[in-house]
Amino acid sequence: MHSICSQATTLPRSNFAFDSRSPAVPISKPVNLRFCGLRKEAFGFSGLTHSCSSRVRCSSRGHSKKISASAENNGTPPKSFDYDLIIIGAGVGGHGAALHAVEKGLRTAIIEGDVVGGTCVNRGCVPSKALLAVSGKMRELQSEHHMKALGLQVSAAGYDRQGVADHANNLASKIRSNLTNSMKALGVDILTGVGTIVGPQKVKYGKVGFPDNIVTAKDIIIATGSVPFVPKGIEVDGKTVITSDHALKLESVPDWIAIVGSGYIGLEFSDVYTALGSEVTFIEALDQLMPGFDPEIGKLAQRVLINPRKIDYHTGVFATKITPAKDGKPVTIELIDAKTKEPKDTLEVDAALIATGRAPFTNGLGLENINVVTQRGFVPVDERMRVIDANGNLVPHVYCIGDANGKMMLAHAASAQGISVVEQVTGRDHVLNHLSIPAACFTHPEISMVGLTEPQAREKAEKEGFEVSVAKTSFKANTKALAENEGEGLAKLIYRPDNGEILGVHIFGLHAADLIHEASNAIALGTRIQEIKFAVHAHPTLSEVLDELFKSAKVKSAASSHGLGPSRNILEELSYKLMIVVPEAFHNLVSSFSKAMQI
Ligand SMILES: Cc1cc2nc3c(=O)[nH]c(=O)nc-3n(C[C@H](O)[C@H](O)[C@H](O)COP(=O)(O)OP(=O)(O)OC[C@H]3O[C@@H](n4cnc5c(N)ncnc54)[C@H](O)[C@@H]3O)c2cc1C
Repeated sequence: MHSICSQATTLPRSNFAFDSRSPAVPISKPVNLRFCGLRKEAFGFSGLTHSCSSRVRCSSRGHSKKISASAENNGTPPKSFDYDLIIIGAGVGGHGAALHAVEKGLRTAIIEGDVVGGTCVNRGCVPSKALLAVSGKMRELQSEHHMKALGLQVSAAGYDRQGVADHANNLASKIRSNLTNSMKALGVDILTGVGTIVGPQKVKYGKVGFPDNIVTAKDIIIATGSVPFVPKGIEVDGKTVITSDHALKLESVPDWIAIVGSGYIGLEFSDVYTALGSEVTFIEALDQLMPGFDPEIGKLAQRVLINPRKIDYHTGVFATKITPAKDGKPVTIELIDAKTKEPKDTLEVDAALIATGRAPFTNGLGLENINVVTQRGFVPVDERMRVIDANGNLVPHVYCIGDANGKMMLAHAASAQGISVVEQVTGRDHVLNHLSIPAACFTHPEISMVGLTEPQAREKAEKEGFEVSVAKTSFKANTKALAENEGEGLAKLIYRPDNGEILGVHIFGLHAADLIHEASNAIALGTRIQEIKFAVHAHPTLSEVLDELFKSAKVKSAASSHGLGPSRNILEELSYKLMIVVPEAFHNLVSSFSKAMQI
């Protein structure tokens, strides 16, 4: 069960706006703060610290008078509101939405039942990347061959487990307080407690033992995120059978750990554990490891990240029962064949990490009060993140972003969806192109991707009747990679040779997670290969891997925008850009533009 805890520092009650005639926050001019990392961590704030202490749980106790009063006229939204926007959940999705909302001049409140920062900051991206930073350095220092090639001598590399754990924990605390401070500095009201939608444009929130508060808003964004998914039959004790929530605390480094699931979370932990000395056994239900990756990149990743390390694996099997270690007995894992369901094996290991995916978290949210039924736990939304009710109708003024809607369970996707919703509620139609959102796995070396894999692109091409081509470049030809003695890597471009459209880019190699953005921005902006291949890259940099990649693509010359007249160039450019954000507007605008230019 997901437990929700409260912040120790609560805002003074006078900061809450219960009277809709008085503004909830002093309407200050939005400060144009830009942030590093998740766009948002504000650096340099001092004094404002916050900590999470007392744990509270979803509660139906403590109804306020205001709730019973509002229940009488449930269904009639108030005419004026405490806030323009209320966001339920202060993870990275909620935070991204809140910052953009303030920039747009919206009176904004965010309700958080646990700690600010949600999964990413406290139990996900941030602490895991801190551990991976350590594992990368350990791996490098331990590689005699690598060190020798650089002419370096290192006597012995060691680590202090608690020191590594503290590094991850301290980073999470720092980013958490940066996030909190950035919202406070911009005038976002942070309301503490579990948020429940009680009717149209009405939310209650509160802590156990205290009366609930009611707040109203013109628009509501649900951003309640996700929790680790643990399949039936697996008993998590938090010590020897753990999820990523426990693993990130690094309370132990087992000699032998089984990782159930070889998606990006499992893979990243295998990188950490093997660098710190553990042996790893992967258990994967599908027939191959890393099933989500482009198959060619997956194969290469297996050759570099799995085969030479102390990792073995069982594919095509389910772990049906996992029992924690007890009374001197090891953790036991019962495996069955994924297809025949016949018992296959029983493993005995020191620990097991369950990395079988994430489940949306919507407990206590009150979706029943707006007639919304979840689908496999996810809140159903359309392409504009508008929530859909049980009858298939849009629920007015309610949106859902991030892991809770399941469209793309990544931190930056959650944040981008939040920004997209704010654009809509402030009058600009906006549809986020999810195919332009990059993803990365921060192993050593890293893996990154954007758009379609090759099989997905070929399937689409067959349905829609176009041709697909593939171009590849190797890190072995890149000066910077070779200078670092990190020539192992590949970049792969999947594209349409007829018009130069980028369908997907996949990179395995040094700093792949940073390199992917040139491709994802190109997809987002509708830039074609025949345009981007003229972009200039500094030498010697890893970015030249992508430069080479785009230059090596063979786009049919007739499709090149360089061969077209200037007016058509403008039109084409406009059309690519508008197609991404406003398809309807694109059609109208292009047709009136064409008429005006008599094209
Ligand atoms: C180990 C690990 C590593 C990861 N690494 C990466 C990575 O490198 N890059 C990446 O992009 N993604 C990564 N992710 C995924 C990323 O963490 C999530 O996609 C992201 O956190 C989702 O953001 P969110 O805002 O939707 O939800 P969350 O971050 O889960 O935030 C939801 C918030 O809502 C609160 N809440 C829930 N219900 C209520 C309620 N009723 N009232 C009030 N508050 C409520 C929760 O307490 C929580 O704070 C990782 C995840 C894990 C587990």
